[in-house]
Amino acid sequence: MTNIAIIGDEQSGRTSLGSKLGKKGTDSDITLFNDDRHEQKYVYIDAKSYPKSMKSIVAALNLSDMAILCVTPNGLTPIVGECVVALDLLGFKRGIIAITKSDTSYAMEIDAFKETLKKVTAGTVLENWEVVSLNTNKDAPNAFEGIDELKEQIHKLGAGIEAEQRTKDSLPPRVVIDHFFNVTGIGIVILGKVLQGTIHTHDKIGLYPVDKKVDIRSIQTHDVDVKETGTGSRVGLGLKGLLERELERGFLLSNSELIASDFEIECTLSKFAKGGVKLDDVLHLFVGLQSDPVRVKKITVGGAEKDKLNAGETGVLKLEGGKKIAYSKEDLFLFASLEDNQRFTATGKVV
Ligand code: GDP
Ligand code: MG
Repeated sequence: MTNIAIIGDEQSGRTSLGSKLGKKGTDSDITLFNDDRHEQKYVYIDAKSYPKSMKSIVAALNLSDMAILCVTPNGLTPIVGECVVALDLLGFKRGIIAITKSDTSYAMEIDAFKETLKKVTAGTVLENWEVVSLNTNKDAPNAFEGIDELKEQIHKLGAGIEAEQRTKDSLPPRVVIDHFFNVTGIGIVILGKVLQGTIHTHDKIGLYPVDKKVDIRSIQTHDVDVKETGTGSRVGLGLKGLLERELERGFLLSNSELIASDFEIECTLSKFAKGGVKLDDVLHLFVGLQSDPVRVKKITVGGAEKDKLNAGETGVLKLEGGKKIAYSKEDLFLFASLEDNQRFTATGKVV
């Protein structure tokens, strides 16, 4: 299964593109569009509440294997810049830039825009992404131009993603929870994504950071009951042994996670994080779909204590948070400072 984030500024045609590519499913601050019509299955995740909500884009990106960045021909806004920084910080090697609403522009303007995009993305993970200009306007003379080309590119990237997923099926299982509810007669149902490994019905698995065991009663993928499923699958799981109030978005089903609320993280600041990070600053920490505001208690660069980490610099941040977070050594932590123009500031891993 290939999970694809659709991101970009408001009014950039994200939701229109999502509905053209799949059938609408789960809808919260992200909207899922499913395409089950082929042997290869696709789930599109529209970061619907972004740019207002950072959680929306972080959830969409963390649930996805690749991204589509939507930009209109005259839509190179600061928010697009912020999306590029987020993708770059998270190291999104696979993706496509969609120049949307192509029916509102003309060929020469779009070609010039492609050149501009090349400059903007130079030196970032996006520099080798394909650029496809397209529209979803059924009334345009060039209605749906570029949609087939986009699907072809997605299919190509999807094949690589599927192959990589199969290499992770034998790893210890890890499922991230993005939605959950109580279903009368069934109990707790969670929706989420298998980040790695394979899960089976009747597995006993840990719920983190709660740190208790639950039973997997049933597994659905694409509305079909299955006995087991592997890496990359979007799943609905019937669970036994927990209460709805014990759950939060971002919790993990896994057999081994670390739990902490304070962290020491080796961070590299984005070169666009102009204000840097100072002692006592409050940053927004994201790991997977969990998030918490944390305060910077100590900054060290090359072993020496500092009162500021500058744009582009690498150092260790000692951070104090307010709630338990489940994570692993390999997880990439993402930081945002909500007051800045370009809000994503850094990524890093625990030391
Ligand atoms: P979002 O805010 O990024 O989700 O953007 P929407 O998909 O909601 O689209 C914003 C507006 O642009 C809506 O009025 C759409 O009807 C319109 N729109 C979206 N895609 C196209 C397109 O390809 N061509 C034209 N002409 N209008 C579009
Ligand atoms: Mg929308």
